[in-house]
Amino acid sequence: MKKPFVNKIRLEEICRQFPTPFHLYDEKGIRENARRVNAAFAWNPGFREFFAVKATPNPQLLKLLREEGCGVDCSSLTELMMSDRCGFAGGEIMFSSNDTPAEEFALAAKLGATINLDDISHIDFLKNTIGYIPRKISCRYNPGGTFTLGESKEGFQVMDNPGQAKYGLTRPQMTQAFRRLKELGAEEFGIHAFLASNTISNEYYPALAAILFRTAVELKNETGAHITFINLSGGVGIPYRPEQSANDIAVIGEGVRKAYEEILVPAGMGDVSLCTELGRFMLAPYGHLVTRVLHQKHTHKEYIGVDACAANLMRPAIYGAYHHITVMGKEDAPWDHMYDVTGSLCENSDKFAVDRMLPEIEIGDLLVIHDTGAHGHSMGYQYNGRLRSAEVLLQEDGTARLIRRAETPEDYFATCIWD
Ligand SMILES: *Cc1c(COP(=O)(O)O)cnc(C)c1O
Repeated sequence: MKKPFVNKIRLEEICRQFPTPFHLYDEKGIRENARRVNAAFAWNPGFREFFAVKATPNPQLLKLLREEGCGVDCSSLTELMMSDRCGFAGGEIMFSSNDTPAEEFALAAKLGATINLDDISHIDFLKNTIGYIPRKISCRYNPGGTFTLGESKEGFQVMDNPGQAKYGLTRPQMTQAFRRLKELGAEEFGIHAFLASNTISNEYYPALAAILFRTAVELKNETGAHITFINLSGGVGIPYRPEQSANDIAVIGEGVRKAYEEILVPAGMGDVSLCTELGRFMLAPYGHLVTRVLHQKHTHKEYIGVDACAANLMRPAIYGAYHHITVMGKEDAPWDHMYDVTGSLCENSDKFAVDRMLPEIEIGDLLVIHDTGAHGHSMGYQYNGRLRSAEVLLQEDGTARLIRRAETPEDYFATCIWD
């Protein structure tokens, strides 16, 4: 059973300080998890987690992760600007973008970020934009086809479709790209790939690592490129459903180490440093969307209307994603009522849960929607003039701190031209 990281009494106190809805983050959980990630890869010289900023672009959370030794992975101008303002610099910034505008390459280069190219044509685009090819550079690899792991009667443990993904260079292009970059003066090379999303398996990273390590050995032999870093990117998932079990990052780290020792070390590449760009795994479980029940509606179904909506958390509406819900204070009551839990958008997909068994709910109950710490607030939007909520940090000392205020109508109107 999934348990909120805060109890009802404390949460009601926080709600007196900050009106619902808001996203609440757990500093202690975030720090402990970041330390587990770093410990899992401590065997690798130069390892660094570059937090995928798009998952939760909040300066206070980025600074907190920086204190734990993380860098940032950016893919847009504003993410670069935010990272710069948070104090990240040079080697602490990875720039893994696609379909990249010129000004973004220019800012990434100015900040000394490590640029990860998404296409072979971006080599000349980058050179024409900034006037040179950085000494250290990376290319994103897409092997195509499908990526599968662990077949069983229930199907594949992990299955995704790189062949349908817009990202990355093909294998022959990787060779051409490294040759071209070398000609243009690049000296340190990296390889990146992102083959599957939200994997609930300790085997995803080791399998991806083996593919990238073999590719690195081949590319070194083919092109003579000096490969100094390999980027395993994101994709390590979390158990959104209560019956799923969590990945064990220590086991994952050991699995990657085994591949490293089997493939890279014998090839004389035992000095390659590893990077990750985890987003979801770093923060998702340590965020709750806190919302209060406004209405109950008995029509063709039983509806619970809350004060949050898809503008605060879009994943259920756009992916049909499951997010667990706890009715605060009723954890031990029988879960014998079936509800749709809805927001207020004039959009029928605005449902946090459909046909969900929950304890009997009353108006005024406080709900925690779990696992919103990544790809939650950040995917928010303003449809229907519903504004994005506040973000609050539950600090290690137990106090709650506002780390982003809620949007106001003035924010919404700020871009309007009235006459
Ligand atoms: C989204 C993204 C990530 C993070 O993915 P998660 O599934 O949140 O771990 C990492 N790298 C790149 C390039 C991304 O686009």
